[in-house]
Amino acid sequence: MTENLCVILADQLSKDISSLKNFRKDKDKILMMEVANEARYVNHHKKKLVLVFSAMRHFAKDMKSKGYSIIYSKIGESQDNFTQELAHQCKKIKPKKIVITHPGEYRVLQEIKKWEKMLNISVEISEDDRFFCTITEFKKWTEGKKELRMESFYHMMRKKYNILIDKDGKPKGGKWNYDIKNRKSLPKNHPDIPKPLQHKPDDITTQVIAEIKKRFSKHFGDLEPFWFAVTHEQAKKSLDDFIKNRLDMFGPYEDAMDQEESFLYHSVLSMYLNIGLLQPKQVLGRVLEKKKIKVESIEGFIRQILGWREYIRGIYWHTMPKYSETNYFNAKNKLPGFYWTGNTEMNCMKNSIGQTVKEAYAHHIQRLMITGNFALIAGIKPKEVCEWYLSVYADAYEWVELPNTHGMTLYADGGILGSKPYAASGNYINKMSNYCKDCQYDVKKKEGEDACPFNYLYWNFFLKNQKKLEKNPRLWTVFSNLKKMSKERKKEIENDSKNFLIQIKRM
Ligand SMILES: Cc1cc2nc3c(=O)[nH]c(=O)nc-3n(C[C@H](O)[C@H](O)[C@H](O)COP(=O)(O)OP(=O)(O)OC[C@H]3O[C@@H](n4cnc5c(N)ncnc54)[C@H](O)[C@@H]3O)c2cc1C
Ligand code: SF4
Repeated sequence: MTENLCVILADQLSKDISSLKNFRKDKDKILMMEVANEARYVNHHKKKLVLVFSAMRHFAKDMKSKGYSIIYSKIGESQDNFTQELAHQCKKIKPKKIVITHPGEYRVLQEIKKWEKMLNISVEISEDDRFFCTITEFKKWTEGKKELRMESFYHMMRKKYNILIDKDGKPKGGKWNYDIKNRKSLPKNHPDIPKPLQHKPDDITTQVIAEIKKRFSKHFGDLEPFWFAVTHEQAKKSLDDFIKNRLDMFGPYEDAMDQEESFLYHSVLSMYLNIGLLQPKQVLGRVLEKKKIKVESIEGFIRQILGWREYIRGIYWHTMPKYSETNYFNAKNKLPGFYWTGNTEMNCMKNSIGQTVKEAYAHHIQRLMITGNFALIAGIKPKEVCEWYLSVYADAYEWVELPNTHGMTLYADGGILGSKPYAASGNYINKMSNYCKDCQYDVKKKEGEDACPFNYLYWNFFLKNQKKLEKNPRLWTVFSNLKKMSKERKKEIENDSKNFLIQIKRM
């Protein structure tokens, strides 16, 4: 007779996950489920499906070899959703209790909360202690604050964990932030950048690739070549490879974009962190061991993991479910079809989307300042944009995707997460990348058919949303320039934008 049934979800593949803390090998069992509804609720990239299923199967195999008793329900043999599959297994093994770590997504938590009543079994939900900040701690931090900002959260976390803090409680090196040094574009003759470590698919992964080809052929993205890590050991090698080959230059080129370099100096570790193949504490521990790395790279990287990643999760659980329903700018346009194909004349979009189709990866600035910026200034419906981001990236899970897209990128939350929308014209893209030199559009032109669409859409966005944004002190320069603009010029901007938006609707 089974006493505790420990359910391990696809993004909980950590050997010390909290649901296993009191596991007794002679009495308890682990249940892992591949279910169709989770694989199909958005148009997940095929590589993401391979990553998740293969990592789950490797995890199960590894735990089995360590003496854990595992029930593993494979796609095609399992019921459609978690609840049905769990009910099916409970009927067979009759556990006394279900134990599960707090899920990453609100939607899944709501499903879990129904189990006790539906299955008539007690359910214990334990804290996901892989994060640096608990949901309760984050809530406490928000209390009494007029506005929430990442920077002050990050200072609090640095002090709490004593990371890069001197004995007087001040930041080591005298600064909290090295952003000013971290805004370089890639020079023309920059040497080739070492690519992320590529892992050869083993028998399990090859089998999963064949299954995805058969069952999910219509899903987004290229299936092969598949090179992601699918085990803890491989993910650790990817971490070591990043630290050895790219970390030192991570800071300075963090914001750069380049059409020949999809990964630049980024870590490409989010997909492993988000499913538990790597742990945030393990990653920071390894990075902090390195004494000879540039301070702007170390600080810049720590800021992403200890600051942004934790802040984003905090915002998600603090504001859901209302968060996903807001639409501050009342954006109504449909997501253009080229988001799914990359088939557009705008070279920056074509490149960022094309790379996404191929790799299930784009780095932060491509997501924020190219595809995200376009969606913002073209007034695309937040729900459609969020669904796209949730589908196309290997690291996409709602807790991290939604605040980044809905809040940081689209400002659809009206400023809960960030202090201003990240709208930018072609000038910014040209400064930070080499996309414009090969584009059909002219980045220097402000009007007319061959003018860069980012140029007029940018001003059109501020014209349309003037009332909502003009009092924002961070947008003072934008609105003082807008005030100086002639009526005729404003009309031209509106016409060019209208024509362009009609044209892309037909695509
Ligand atoms: C519109 C949009 C959607 C996004 N969707 C996701 C998503 O679904 N999943 C996801 O993990 N990240 C998302 N991000 C954040 C960020 O773009 C990715 O974490 C990053 O690009 C992953 O690549 P990397 O591992 O090479 O990151 P690096 O640039 O090497 O950064 C190091 C690590 O810091 C963390 N990190 C950095 N920035 C953020 C951030 N803003 N939020 C959370 N963690 C961060 C990641 O774990 C990342 O692996 C999104 C950003 C935007 C603008
Ligand atoms: S000209 Fe405009 S559309 Fe073309 S690549 Fe540059 S920013 Fe993108």
